[in-house]
Amino acid sequence: MTSSNDIPTVELSHLDDLWFQVAGTRCNLTCHHCFISCSPKNDRFGYLTFAEVKQRLEESVVCGVKEYYFTGGEPFLNREMVPILVETLRYGPATVLTNGTVFKNEWLEELSKAEKESLYALEFRVSIDGFSPSTNDPIRGEGTFDRAMHGVIQLVQFGFLPIITATRTWTDDQEPQVLKAFVDMLKKAGYPRPRVKILPTIHLGAEEKRSRRYHETERVTVEMMHQFDSTQLVCEHSRIVTDRGIHVCPILIESENSILGQSLEQSMAGYALRHSACFTCYQYGAICSNPSSTKLVQE
Ligand code: SF4
Ligand code: SF4
Repeated sequence: MTSSNDIPTVELSHLDDLWFQVAGTRCNLTCHHCFISCSPKNDRFGYLTFAEVKQRLEESVVCGVKEYYFTGGEPFLNREMVPILVETLRYGPATVLTNGTVFKNEWLEELSKAEKESLYALEFRVSIDGFSPSTNDPIRGEGTFDRAMHGVIQLVQFGFLPIITATRTWTDDQEPQVLKAFVDMLKKAGYPRPRVKILPTIHLGAEEKRSRRYHETERVTVEMMHQFDSTQLVCEHSRIVTDRGIHVCPILIESENSILGQSLEQSMAGYALRHSACFTCYQYGAICSNPSSTKLVQE
């Protein structure tokens, strides 16, 4: 970790994880807490093509990337998503962050086959923000609970074990009951060993209107980084590819200064944690990674 004035800089220790903003900012939903305000009409970032992803995969081998993540928007709106994942499984493990509402059985069948033939695992994270229509739908849209749960069961039927991700829109003291309600609901729906990951809200994009903006005081300082384990921060070991270039992390793609270069090699510089969203990473750590989550419940 280095610093300039009072803003700490986190160096990239090694490019372990490479993310792809594969659907740009296009999503079939318009969730009220989406920190990049994705929607059916948001074209600020475009889709990545198979050819673009393939080129980055080849580039990533030289950099020693270990794992790949796909996000959007909704990745499965990208018509090349299935071939992109099949190709990625030749390079390493892949995780897709999806709202689970647009799967076709033939896609999952092909992906299940590709995973069985691969040395590497394919993981799905499905976003559901409540354990019932009445807790989920006010945030994600009318009917989205039923549609996402249908997607979860489709995944289970094709042999996948999706991680359910829920954004914390409840108070800390409600958390144990909420987690239990999620696990009970998932088991009852036919997912016997559910995994649930709780994420903090990020006060950017649509979430600024739903709850609040960051306060000026919510900043990471050099002093705060003393004795802090910076490996907890995604920017310490990851970068993300968009149709504009390579950015520091999936949270800040819309922020000024988030593009670090046009090649992976150029994107290896450290990053000054000048943004208020960095404060959320500091508080909760490991927001974007799979295994060491803020709260991962497995029963
Ligand atoms: S939170 Fe996810 S599902 Fe909801 S609008 Fe944003 S990208 Fe789409
Ligand atoms: S938002 Fe989080 S991952 Fe992104 S640069 Fe700030 S601390 Fe790093």
